[in-house]
Amino acid sequence: MNRFEVITPADLASASRLLAQDGHVAFAGGVDVVDLMKQGIVSPTALVNLKGLKELGGIEVRPSGELRLGATAKLSEVAEHPAIRARFTAIAEAASETATPQIRNLATVGGNLLQRPRCWYFRNPDVNCLKKSGDKCYAFGGLNRYHAILGGDPAFIVHPSNLAPALIAMRASATIVGPAGEHTIELEKFFTLPTVDPKRENSLKPGEIITEVIVPAPSASVSSHYLEAREKQSFDWPLVSVAIALDRAPGEKTIRDARVVMGAVAPVPWRSHEAEAALKGGPLDEPRARAAAKAALKGAQPMTDNAYKVVMAKVIVRRAIMSAAGLEAA
Ligand SMILES: Cc1cc2nc3c(=O)[nH]c(=O)nc-3n(C[C@H](O)[C@H](O)[C@H](O)COP(=O)(O)OP(=O)(O)OC[C@H]3O[C@@H](n4cnc5c(N)ncnc54)[C@H](O)[C@@H]3O)c2cc1C
Repeated sequence: MNRFEVITPADLASASRLLAQDGHVAFAGGVDVVDLMKQGIVSPTALVNLKGLKELGGIEVRPSGELRLGATAKLSEVAEHPAIRARFTAIAEAASETATPQIRNLATVGGNLLQRPRCWYFRNPDVNCLKKSGDKCYAFGGLNRYHAILGGDPAFIVHPSNLAPALIAMRASATIVGPAGEHTIELEKFFTLPTVDPKRENSLKPGEIITEVIVPAPSASVSSHYLEAREKQSFDWPLVSVAIALDRAPGEKTIRDARVVMGAVAPVPWRSHEAEAALKGGPLDEPRARAAAKAALKGAQPMTDNAYKVVMAKVIVRRAIMSAAGLEAA
């Protein structure tokens, strides 16, 4: 690891100015960025500590019912917040399934969304793959057990964040502050496929900082659920995950609206409009959930080692849909 300094900026404007400089990298909980430094993937001359910035802190459910997650809010706080558990259930579940209690006490909302992929070729300092300055994705034709089955070409990483699918299912937007001022972007549009640029996973520009994530107030008829499958029960990134949000009028069986967003299957959180169409307009029962799960995996292109993800994702999506509606899955 190279020598570096840690700078704690006095305010948001100074943090943004510092981060616009070459060699300066943001630091929140530090869980991923320190790993990346140890792996030689980033070698900052300075880490810019975002933790003390008041604009980035806190969790608030506003009188309108809208949820504001400060970018430096801890995953443990999100997981345990009573109003998030009650009204934004998938988000609390996604946070509580992340890593270990110790990591959740350090890891932040912004850092979780911006963590880099877990691909073993990308994380190996001796492999110069397409995500660095190389010209090849080694997962294609290589060891690809944990890689993408949807939208992979030309870099078959999967998006590692638990929070991202849950936040997208609940229609969240991020507020971003940078040298060009402040703007808001729907999280669904924030993450970018490798066809846009294989070296990055989102549209954040130098000097830009996520300050908060805003989740609109769900109507009283919306229920949500996050479910994942992983190899180790103790702590691990998911092999497949899904967040479901369903809008069903109380006492009615018909689904008015649905969001289905999968994680760990594609380089971005993968929203399935096909699955949503299969759910909308009809009563929710096992056959409809099964049809939606099948639709969610339409177009999946597994590689040599990861066809199991297609089967697993269908099961996870079906079960999550049933659970989101409070129904027992077969
Ligand atoms: C054993 C283990 C298991 C794990 N399991 C899971 C899992 O199951 N699911 C999951 O989702 N994650 C998992 N993780 C990853 C962990 O959740 C992330 O590393 C963590 O959330 C990153 O948050 P952080 O605040 O520490 O980010 P940092 O490491 O501080 O930052 C991450 C990146 O974001 C940038 N950054 C941070 N905040 C901002 C901001 N506000 N604006 C602009 N840039 C910013 C940094 O420059 C850096 O590039 C696991 C990690 C470990 C070690």
